[in-house]
Amino acid sequence: MDYAATLLSKLPGASRRVKGVRALVDTLEGYLPDDQVQKILSAYEFGAAAHQGQTRRSGEPYITHPVAVAHELAEMHLDSEAICAAILHDVVEDTPATLEEIKEKFGEEVALIVDGVSKLDQIQFRSRAEAQAESFRKMMLAMIEDIRVILVKLSDRLHNMQTLGAMPAKKKKRIARETLDIYAPIANRLGINRLKIQLEDLGFKHLHPFRYRVLDGALKKSKGSQKQIVRRISDQFSKAMAEDGIEGEVSGREKHLYSIYKKMAEKKRVLSDVVDVYGFRIIVDDVSTCYQTLGLVHQLYKPMPGRFKDYIAIPRINGYQSLHTTLFGPKGLPLEVQIRTSHMDRVAESGVASHWIYKADEKSDATPQRRAREWLANLAELQQSGTSEEFLESVKVDLFPDKIYVFTPKGDIMPLPKGATTVDFAYAVHTDVGNRTVAAKINRGLVPLRTPLQNGQTVEIVTARGAKPNPNWLTFVRSAKARTAIRHHMKNLRSVESVDLGRRLLDKTLKDLGSSLRKVGKVRMSEALAELSLESADDLFEQIGLGERLAPLTARFLLGADEDGENVEDVASLVIAGTEGMVVSYAKCCYPIPGDDVMGYLTAGRGVVIHRNGCGNLSNFRKQPEKWIAVSWEKDIDRDFNCQIQCETRNRTGVLAEVAATIADCGSNIEQVEVISRHEDCSTLTFLLQIKDRTHLAQIMRNVRKMPNVIRVSRECA
Ligand code: MN
Repeated sequence: MDYAATLLSKLPGASRRVKGVRALVDTLEGYLPDDQVQKILSAYEFGAAAHQGQTRRSGEPYITHPVAVAHELAEMHLDSEAICAAILHDVVEDTPATLEEIKEKFGEEVALIVDGVSKLDQIQFRSRAEAQAESFRKMMLAMIEDIRVILVKLSDRLHNMQTLGAMPAKKKKRIARETLDIYAPIANRLGINRLKIQLEDLGFKHLHPFRYRVLDGALKKSKGSQKQIVRRISDQFSKAMAEDGIEGEVSGREKHLYSIYKKMAEKKRVLSDVVDVYGFRIIVDDVSTCYQTLGLVHQLYKPMPGRFKDYIAIPRINGYQSLHTTLFGPKGLPLEVQIRTSHMDRVAESGVASHWIYKADEKSDATPQRRAREWLANLAELQQSGTSEEFLESVKVDLFPDKIYVFTPKGDIMPLPKGATTVDFAYAVHTDVGNRTVAAKINRGLVPLRTPLQNGQTVEIVTARGAKPNPNWLTFVRSAKARTAIRHHMKNLRSVESVDLGRRLLDKTLKDLGSSLRKVGKVRMSEALAELSLESADDLFEQIGLGERLAPLTARFLLGADEDGENVEDVASLVIAGTEGMVVSYAKCCYPIPGDDVMGYLTAGRGVVIHRNGCGNLSNFRKQPEKWIAVSWEKDIDRDFNCQIQCETRNRTGVLAEVAATIADCGSNIEQVEVISRHEDCSTLTFLLQIKDRTHLAQIMRNVRKMPNVIRVSRECA
């Protein structure tokens, strides 16, 4: 008597008889050890108890649904955490059971997946526009931290599609369209062919019931007459392979209705053209045998020109690999042949999911993110052609997005940089909206403006006529658009405050120098204003308040010191503390950091820009010595500065990751990495780092230089 039967017999009578449980256990038994099957069964008991009394539209007990969802994933041999989560995926949403209980009983991982699925369920897709569907897919992928969340979600959708049954036609169509627009493309993106095909066929069936019936009927009819031919040709292939000593499996390939339909629609072909095509799949042991087999079938039947595709050398974007060819078969019937290894076949079926397939002898402590990265790394390895970066980029952007996606109150999707706040959202909607923002709501509740947004939230901005942007927003906005708009507004803001601030700054500075505005007096002031071509003292104060003019320089100017620039040396330098805000910025050509010898260059509207003394751009500015000011660093500066280093490495797998890890170990963040050049065996990379000062930088460079695959490290200076 098998173990599963023993386990099942222990369950209470009612839940033992629930449809699908027996089949699920049989499948699980086929690949999971007994203790894990046991754990899944206790998740089942828990779920069945929680959903007790609930039924599906069909009248069946609700628990049949999660069981079916779990079964689909079990067919793909996913690990026990994914299966448990599949069984429990609706428990938190629809029953009194809590996430804490799940965590306590089945562990953190299961709880995190269940939580992820519940969060996905909360976002609603409302618009039908194509571009919106694309954004929505990205939003979904951006929301998940564990790919298993999307696997459960896809399987959930699949079972819901399989049981659409008695729904009103209109609702069915909406769900079918959503499946074709959102879920099938995600399955495709992640290379999970098995789910993609089922989702597409079901979506097609419910969206275009009539077309589906016609096509299905035609296909079934032709299948009967095709059977013999398919068998004959399969045998012929097998025999030829055996004669050549090639081991492999030949099978006739079932047609996927939606792909036939799309072919007809896109290429405007008639049904008979598309249907009378015979599909074959040949699975062999290794790559060279694939090509050998290809040669063989090309000898048996003439290949159709232009139809051969080598997806082994150049895999598809989701990692799919295979050789495709079309042959002129008997009586000119086209034969479509796919040739691949059994490993490629597995990847073609499960894509990214193949990284969560249970393997008995593997003790892996990899995090979900690392596994997704492993998948990416595999894709990268496959893709050795010139387009690899482009290709990787597109997958990476989806899986490790640097953007978040939120809804406007109307249901449009707005992409924003990660960490964006309600103010960034307001400016993304329209500059006028941003400028007049007074309050913000997330999911209908009022929140502070500085609140960072999360994927899938609905954001609403409350505006008021006459409201103005607050300079303080600059401390938390993330998007360039918001920052530029706020600065622009401030620049144009002839406000009482900036005049007042400027006056106070100047007076304080004068007092530091043993004088004051009063002591300077009206006569010297109007003299100075004339020299500066300013209309009034308020104009001068305003410029200072807005950071267009520096108070210390103006003060010295008013006092008549060093206006001819002769005694620059005597002037105490401006001390930079790194906390000056807008008024002081750091040049992006040479990235000065505390400890560097630096100079300040006065730029209208931007205050002082700090450059390193050795910066190549200095010569351009030399022509205007009056704009230079001496600056020095405050002693203990406690903030991070951007700094750039250049690194020459040997082209070895994982070099970039090693260098990044070394940098991270030194307590620095990497803001940006760029490949400057790449030769046969070495590459030059630049890293934009966040560092404290020169000592910190020196330590990082020393550690990176010591690495075996690093040839040279230098601080970049344009
Ligand atoms: Mn569900």
